[in-house]
Amino acid sequence: MVLAQLGGSISRALQQMSNATIIDEKVLNECLNEITRALLQADVQFKLVRDMQTNIKKIVNLDDLAAGHNKRKIIQQAIFNELCKMLDPGKPSFTPKKGKTSVIMFVGLQGSGKTTTCTKYAYYHQKKGWKPALVCADTFRAGAFDQLKQNATKAKIPFYGSGKASGVYVDGIPTIKVGKLMWRIGRASCRPVWWVGLVVKSPSRTRSLIMLLKYGKLPISSSREPMRVFGGSSFTEFPFMLDVTFEETLRAVRDACRGFKLADPSYMESDPVKIAVEGVERFKEENCDLIIVDTSGRHKQEAALFEEMRQVSEATKPDLVIFVMDSSIGQAAFDQAQAFKQSVSVGAVIVTKMDGHAKGGGSLSAVAATKSPVIFIGTGEHMDEFEVFDVKPFVSRLLG
Ligand code: GDP
Repeated sequence: MVLAQLGGSISRALQQMSNATIIDEKVLNECLNEITRALLQADVQFKLVRDMQTNIKKIVNLDDLAAGHNKRKIIQQAIFNELCKMLDPGKPSFTPKKGKTSVIMFVGLQGSGKTTTCTKYAYYHQKKGWKPALVCADTFRAGAFDQLKQNATKAKIPFYGSGKASGVYVDGIPTIKVGKLMWRIGRASCRPVWWVGLVVKSPSRTRSLIMLLKYGKLPISSSREPMRVFGGSSFTEFPFMLDVTFEETLRAVRDACRGFKLADPSYMESDPVKIAVEGVERFKEENCDLIIVDTSGRHKQEAALFEEMRQVSEATKPDLVIFVMDSSIGQAAFDQAQAFKQSVSVGAVIVTKMDGHAKGGGSLSAVAATKSPVIFIGTGEHMDEFEVFDVKPFVSRLLG
């Protein structure tokens, strides 16, 4: 568990001081130095530790200690308060309300556990009767959408995103693709036409949609060849002979599909901002109360990543931005958290992989850098290995 070794070291330092017959400044300093060492070893940022030491010295009155009061208790209380203060930025984060739509955007470096945490967060709320939904705005990492899709499907949470090779899927419902195709007419001539592809997931729904497209509002010239169906491994394409522009086709398809709750026709959308906006709008229409947007991570802090994040944030106007941080990043935590905070208005932190060997002091630094509270911690790879983070019980447990 996080900071467990730290708790042990602090308890030992306090015990040693308690054992001393006279508590003078020297003994107190020794105790505080011991605690400082423990905090630094646990990757708490140097400045935070130094401030804490100064504060404790200001609070603890040596005369009280000399007068035979319970020394251990007084100092322990001071340390308790200081650690709580470090983990409590003073104002709570935005708290979504069940039944009222909130958009929550997740940011963090690649590998921090962001995608896993998005699903854990959704699943946690779903179990409490919320109606969460996941939007994958990560078009950078190959396989990001598939991972989110897999997690979401397992947890039965609606999702939205764009697979690089398979067009737009929406929650397992057949989704439209429109593209340009060279379609052979007659023997010799070859001319471009627009095609409409349906990702076939539900045969009955698809059939009725075909009827609608065929006999409904699509401007198919009757003199042309009838609609043909030709196969693909994951979808079936329906080419139409259209004497219209691509935009007109899109509009016609959109019109024809009203009432089908389909995504806007698009083909292999790779603009994360567009996907994020479409996903959020769609789930708002469906009255989801927790719309979670997973953004791209990168291996390192790059200008392009921050710019993309800023754009997604501007377009989706999240109620809360959650910074996901791997607990094992150590002393780098402060700078990393600060860099994210400078690009988007981070309002809460989730620290992952607390089940590992991480020393965990980074969480104190992340709070200090973002001035936002830690709200949950990840304690394993599974969906339910996720705990609410509560400062006081956490620090109590830490000090033993
Ligand atoms: P992303 O690149 O930030 O989206 O990271 P992923 O969600 O793909 O997670 C990266 C790896 O960390 C995966 O193997 C996850 O299973 C793992 N992971 C995420 N959270 C935790 C956690 O709390 N504990 C442990 N042990 N592993 C985690």
